Amino acid sequence: MDLSSPITTLPGIGSIMAKKLEKLGIKSVFDLLYHIPFRYEDRSKISSISQIQPGETVTIIGKIESIKNDFTKGRKFIQKAIVSDDSGSIDVIWFNQTYLTRTLKAGDSVTLYGKVEFFGPKKTLVSPEYEIGNNLIHMGRIVPIYPETAGVSSKWLRAKIFPILTTLTDFSPFDIQSLKNIHFPQSLDQTESARRRLAKDELLLLQLSALIHRQSWQKTRLSHIFSVPYPQIRQFIANLPFTLTLSQNKTVDEILTDLSTPNPMNRLLEGDVGSGKTIVAAIAAYAAHLNNFQTLILAPTQILAHQHYQTLKSLIDPFGISVGLITGNSKLDAKRYTLDAIFVGTHALLSKKFDSVGLIIIDEQHRFGVAQRALAASKGESPHILTMTATPIPRTVALTLYGDLDLSVLTDLPSGRIPVKTWVIPEHKRSAAYEWIKSQKTQTFIVCPFIEESETLKSVKAASAEFAKLAQIFPHLKLGLLHGKLKAKEKEEVIHKFRAGESDILVSTPVVEVGIDIPDATVMIIEAAERFGLAQLHQLRGRVGRSDQQSYCLLFSNSDTDRLKAMETHHSGLELAEIDLKLRGPGNIYGTTQHGLPRFKVASYQDFDLINEVKAEAAKILPDLKKYPLLRSLLQEAKMQEVQPN
Ligand code: ADP
Ligand code: MG
Repeated sequence: MDLSSPITTLPGIGSIMAKKLEKLGIKSVFDLLYHIPFRYEDRSKISSISQIQPGETVTIIGKIESIKNDFTKGRKFIQKAIVSDDSGSIDVIWFNQTYLTRTLKAGDSVTLYGKVEFFGPKKTLVSPEYEIGNNLIHMGRIVPIYPETAGVSSKWLRAKIFPILTTLTDFSPFDIQSLKNIHFPQSLDQTESARRRLAKDELLLLQLSALIHRQSWQKTRLSHIFSVPYPQIRQFIANLPFTLTLSQNKTVDEILTDLSTPNPMNRLLEGDVGSGKTIVAAIAAYAAHLNNFQTLILAPTQILAHQHYQTLKSLIDPFGISVGLITGNSKLDAKRYTLDAIFVGTHALLSKKFDSVGLIIIDEQHRFGVAQRALAASKGESPHILTMTATPIPRTVALTLYGDLDLSVLTDLPSGRIPVKTWVIPEHKRSAAYEWIKSQKTQTFIVCPFIEESETLKSVKAASAEFAKLAQIFPHLKLGLLHGKLKAKEKEEVIHKFRAGESDILVSTPVVEVGIDIPDATVMIIEAAERFGLAQLHQLRGRVGRSDQQSYCLLFSNSDTDRLKAMETHHSGLELAEIDLKLRGPGNIYGTTQHGLPRFKVASYQDFDLINEVKAEAAKILPDLKKYPLLRSLLQEAKMQEVQPN
């Protein structure tokens, strides 16, 4: 067994258990060892039975004098035991665990951890955790509590992790002592330095694999180097219906420079919602076309693919360049695509063959897995690749996470944009807000967090229920309903109607988050806004404010309003992400899904200093990688697993 072995190589872990573990992100032995406790329980102090008091949570070691199954008054099974040590004895009970009388036998030495209560007149240890024998894992120490899932308890995890840690000896450069200290610390102080060391290792691995990617990328030589005919491109830009922003211009320059070098471009374009990434992509595609190469533009959803298709068509048609659309249910279906210059599509595009792809553009890149991105790249012969994202990642963090990519950032919004006026609206002002919407005579988005009412989210207005309610509130307006469970065709229709102005209000789950561009809509309402991260709210808000009209964003919420109020004064996704980072910690800033950042096991996005430290170290190690066999094998493994989007 080594660290990269699949988890099923461990004794007692079959395919069913492996499935459960996968829910925790545990696929290999390595993953198991890097399943980090989120808190600890101090069970190190052993109490004498005679000393313990009701209300205390205690660890005792004793002998089982007797144990039996009994019934409660309500005819439920109850297990009763008496346990003694030198100082005295105590009653112990469990509820409805009949198997216990087979596990625990009179005469056994047992360690128990639990709460002492009065049960009737007697001091009783109620439902304690137990461990038999002298080689204790779960008792008599500081005990780790892990993120759990159904069928995988902390106790189960401890029992698996403990023996591996004791057999590991030399795992240099990975510090085995830190792993021991984070799982089974002698004192709580040890956990913090262990965490830092492990975080550093994790970042180092990430940074090294990025550097290796980058190296191999830079070694790739193109068989056909693009020439960039600047006059024609300038002409193209001059014919756009608007002038490019400063940072659009700068980015275009960076891309054109990349395109004319002998190795393929691998660039990430980061830009806030509405910063105008699409047109930058179009210019790159035009440059590819001038070199007789096809461009593939990959969009995460059909809605977006359609939208890009329309946009590009209108921009590029005047130049006599044909644009094709390929989605799951597109009519355009050929074995091999030889004609059009630009193809816009969803992942359906990845199963097609093309004639001469020279440029691949991936929009909202985090929505695609590494495998999909690699497949996209295989559609051409070392094609140039431009990925685009609206996820606000601070520059230093982006450079670490995507160290293999060159980075361009759109820092300014197209001129003439008016900041979206934003208010947090408490419940008692809801009707007034509705009246205000009626008076606005504009198109409105209403976003509800989830489609069905679910038990744990009772307070959340389900979009469907909300839709019915809103239809009564706005009897004179036409409403559309958009959610993830609709068929692609139905979604298209709903969006189409809204875009064409045939409906006034689009009630939706957060599916609108991804890129929809409907400039006539100027009001965005977000229900239960406290459920969203600020960066996510900002993305949603970015659906409006796309024209020269004043737009508005109303955040309905009764709680967490101080945090939400940051939305009223801040209009940069990056700033908002950083505010949330401070207020709520890194786990929450980007919402629960779709943030596109790798899920760290130990490190955090707040570790700026550590990130910088590691960058320097990685650069030093890289030339000497031969000397670190384990590091190399981990890198190998990381390459196979690659960080998947969440
Ligand atoms: P995103 O970066 O979110 O993908 P888009 O590319 O969809 O943004 O652009 C948002 C809107 O801004 C589009 O309607 C687009 O036509 C418009 N736009 C882009 N660049 C400019 C510009 N320089 N001046 C004015 N409008 C622009
Ligand atoms: Mg976009």
